[in-house]
Amino acid sequence: MEHVVVVGSSLAGLRACETLRTEGFTGTITMVGSEPHLPYDRPPLSKKYLSGEWNTEQIALRRPESLGELSLTLKLGAAAVALDTTAQRLQLADGTSLGYDGLVIATGANCRKLPGQPNLSGIHELRTLGDADALRADLSNRTSPARVVVIGAGFIGLEVAATAREPYGCEVTVLEGLPAPLVRGLGAEMGNAVALVHSDHGVTIRCGVQVSAIEGDGSRVTGVRLGSGEVVPADIVVVGIGVVPATEWLTDGRIEVRDGVVCDATLRTAVPGVYAAGDIARWYNGLYGEEMRVEHWTTAADQGAAAASNLLAVSRGEEPKAFEAVPFFWSDQFEARVQYLGRAAGDDEVRVVHGSVDDRKFVALYGSKGRFRGALGVTLPKKLMPYRKLLQERASWDDALAFAAEKGN
Ligand SMILES: Cc1cc2nc3c(=O)[nH]c(=O)nc-3n(C[C@H](O)[C@H](O)[C@H](O)COP(=O)(O)OP(=O)(O)OC[C@H]3O[C@@H](n4cnc5c(N)ncnc54)[C@H](O)[C@@H]3O)c2cc1C
Repeated sequence: MEHVVVVGSSLAGLRACETLRTEGFTGTITMVGSEPHLPYDRPPLSKKYLSGEWNTEQIALRRPESLGELSLTLKLGAAAVALDTTAQRLQLADGTSLGYDGLVIATGANCRKLPGQPNLSGIHELRTLGDADALRADLSNRTSPARVVVIGAGFIGLEVAATAREPYGCEVTVLEGLPAPLVRGLGAEMGNAVALVHSDHGVTIRCGVQVSAIEGDGSRVTGVRLGSGEVVPADIVVVGIGVVPATEWLTDGRIEVRDGVVCDATLRTAVPGVYAAGDIARWYNGLYGEEMRVEHWTTAADQGAAAASNLLAVSRGEEPKAFEAVPFFWSDQFEARVQYLGRAAGDDEVRVVHGSVDDRKFVALYGSKGRFRGALGVTLPKKLMPYRKLLQERASWDDALAFAAEKGN
């Protein structure tokens, strides 16, 4: 293997390049990315970067000089538009093409849009540095705080709501079609519990409301019309209704695409020598005995490394390793640090085992069919983290509850 192409110049892609080098690959590595920037970190885009506290240097994933140590050929601002896995050739938007011996797909995801979403100034989404710059400028360049409507009470929507409120002092309303905030990730009971911090800080969250249209005066947004006919006035609207895996360039029928790129337990796609990692990868997680796609920072970083390691191992005639992981994510909203380990389903049993929801500091456990499935911590990191080991060991629900009882409140 002489030439590895990594498509996607963000977290998973960068970790893949780093691992190829640390594991001794001396051939050419080309990193292709549609954005013009060197790899940067996304979590601050809704937090300290959006608030203006951090600048672009502080969100770099690697400083330019240390990126140089990896000896990468960078093709930035050049989106991949087509892939031919038979000819082992990647087509780029600038008209050039690249041959490869090994390929890592790490193109992440793009924001989902509302049906019929109009093109008005003041409507924002948040995935890229460019998106964050546009939203930050809109929040800051004002004589009085804006009325902000966030559509979607998922993690990113709620983080934007918190930042728009503090430090920008905006009047913030979050609109959610489901009966509770964060319901997909945490279930209704814990979604409501986590969102209490928003009502404490004066953010209005309205659940069970349908958005029928975003309204404007022809050039700028003026409000959001609900299914009931009511219009919620807005100077800024942020559409935070989730993401769609960036698979549009995977035109080769040999790579299976099904809400992401389908991979085996080792992150290999249906085509030998082609691996996927990060938000785009749908892989078989043996720890849970199911296929999953995870949109969390830690998984993207670990999968980037694992995909590169397996690509290299197989090229050397060695055995690849299954990627088995307890999903983990965090979210910062006002003073609350939300952390989640594992995988929850809507009908899981939930028990608060440490702290209390009233104090806005607690740990809750999730269990289903006798199995311990996940643990949520709000601003109690030391109490939460020991549960990772139990999840890795596939502990039973009873064992997890006994462990919690032993630790005490
Ligand atoms: C605002 C925000 C806040 C977040 N906060 C948290 C958090 O607090 N905690 C947490 O766990 N996770 C958080 N996440 C999620 C985390 O950032 C992602 O899981 C992680 O960035 C995924 O990395 P990735 O490399 O798989 O994909 P991405 O980061 O999406 O990178 C994919 C890259 O591929 C490029 N690309 C796309 N299509 C093409 C193409 N055709 N050709 C070439 N390049 C292409 C994209 O431009 C992008 O640069 C947050 C995400 C966002 C957007």
